Amino acid sequence: MSDGDVASDATAVIAAAGSGERLGAGGPKALLEIAGRPMLEWSLLAFAQSSSVSAATVAAPPERVGAIEDLVGRVRERGESAMPTTVVAGGQSRSESVAAAARGVETELTIVHDAARPLVTPELIDAVAGKLAAAEGCDGVIAASPITDTVKQAGGGLRVERTLDRSALWAAQTPQAFRTEALRLALASGDLGAATDDAMLVERLGGTVLVHEAPPDNVKVTNELDVRVAELLLADRTADRLAR
Ligand code: C5P
Repeated sequence: MSDGDVASDATAVIAAAGSGERLGAGGPKALLEIAGRPMLEWSLLAFAQSSSVSAATVAAPPERVGAIEDLVGRVRERGESAMPTTVVAGGQSRSESVAAAARGVETELTIVHDAARPLVTPELIDAVAGKLAAAEGCDGVIAASPITDTVKQAGGGLRVERTLDRSALWAAQTPQAFRTEALRLALASGDLGAATDDAMLVERLGGTVLVHEAPPDNVKVTNELDVRVAELLLADRTADRLAR
């Protein structure tokens, strides 16, 4: 664990209740096979191997709770995860799914993660958890990457209105680690339908959130190109492990 080796006990909340409509996968994105495994499995393995997480809750599409429970059972039977893992029905929006899964969390820290980021590593999970545990007065630490493109704000007719100063801009990702208390408060009072991540709900209540720079390969799978990129990167990792 980095960031001062501060021990932490956290529960993972994995948002996996998306429909997969944008991807046209013909079913939930979390069950789409990437490099030989349903996408959700890659995240489960990373959390099982992290040293800061003791349990996990997965938010599943309501009609697929049984299928996701079966997947979790298979991972356990193969001896790939001994992490106690529960599955709950997700909500209409991402943050409603997170809220449903966060309800049963008993640890001081909660690490929220999107199943749509299958390249997350145990090292990244431990880094955000360790940084949060070490930072007094801090409510959350989020994985993020510096923006490398120049960012324009455009209005009507796609006319550029302004250019943002990219030196201060970060693209927010998951995992996002929170003090459970702060996350619960934020989820109880925020506009969950409009939230695109949970950190913004914590920020709106005046909470302090820090950024942790993520490795460049922590990509999100949204479209067909992302699937191909994730396939290549995960296949590479599997090959690396086999070569060791
Ligand atoms: O749709 P998008 O790719 O932004 O979703 C991010 C994550 O949130 C995905 O892992 C998806 O499964 C999850 N999600 C959810 N509940 C919803 C919508 C999305 O758990 N209602």
